[in-house]
Amino acid sequence: MRKKIAAGNWKMNTTFETGKKLVGEILDGLAANPPKQSPNEMLVVLGVPFITLKKAANILKNNPQVKIAAQNCYSEEKGAFTGEISVEMIKSTGAEFVIIGHSERREYFNESFEMLAKKVDLTLKHGLTPIFCCGEKLETREAGQHFDLVKNQIAGSLFHLNDDELSKVVIAYEPVWAIGTGVTASPAQAQEMHAFIRNTIAGKYGKALADEITILYGGSVGAKNAKELFSQSDVDGGLVGGASLKAEDFVTIINSFN
Ligand code: PEP
Repeated sequence: MRKKIAAGNWKMNTTFETGKKLVGEILDGLAANPPKQSPNEMLVVLGVPFITLKKAANILKNNPQVKIAAQNCYSEEKGAFTGEISVEMIKSTGAEFVIIGHSERREYFNESFEMLAKKVDLTLKHGLTPIFCCGEKLETREAGQHFDLVKNQIAGSLFHLNDDELSKVVIAYEPVWAIGTGVTASPAQAQEMHAFIRNTIAGKYGKALADEITILYGGSVGAKNAKELFSQSDVDGGLVGGASLKAEDFVTIINSFN
């Protein structure tokens, strides 16, 4: 059975102190309102800034349901890449997930399909789980090319993987026009693209494997719309930006699974 995931992407927000506090607030919120799903059925993932990884992973060391993600990694193993953070470094903090290919990284840091494929490979090599982001800009959707674009993003950075490797990848569909805009894809639009992504994977890897892949929706998910989005049959949870910085809202989102 594929896992449900409620993931937060804190982006470049919080300091060491306020990040630590937010982890505590989310844990307090979950203690007051425990999810009805077991950790085998549903995970919470906090995508915190690099400086918070180790502290957050330490706080959560004995928590089977809440895990930590880095928001990026570098595409090389190690060496003379001043300022970059390798997957091995991330792993050493206790983080278990890495967000790869967020649209902000594709847009502002020119991350190519090939570079993202290398990041996915390194993440899997070190036993961490990639949360691979894909999604179209508004003009691409308006031109009717959103399915082709998303298919190319997935094929271009994931379809070199073997069955075992692909089965470990989490996909996050995040239409760029919905990220941080307050404009959410309708549940029907999200479901349509998620089903398309699953079918695209089935076409290459078979239906059984495609049915095991967790596909998250991201783009202005909030406390008010999460329930309807998460109730779509191919939407296995969310990657949440802004609302993941408010403990109360994020806990409501976590508790929005049926
Ligand atoms: C994101 O950053 O991945 C995201 C979906 O942001 P927001 O929820 O703020 O739209």
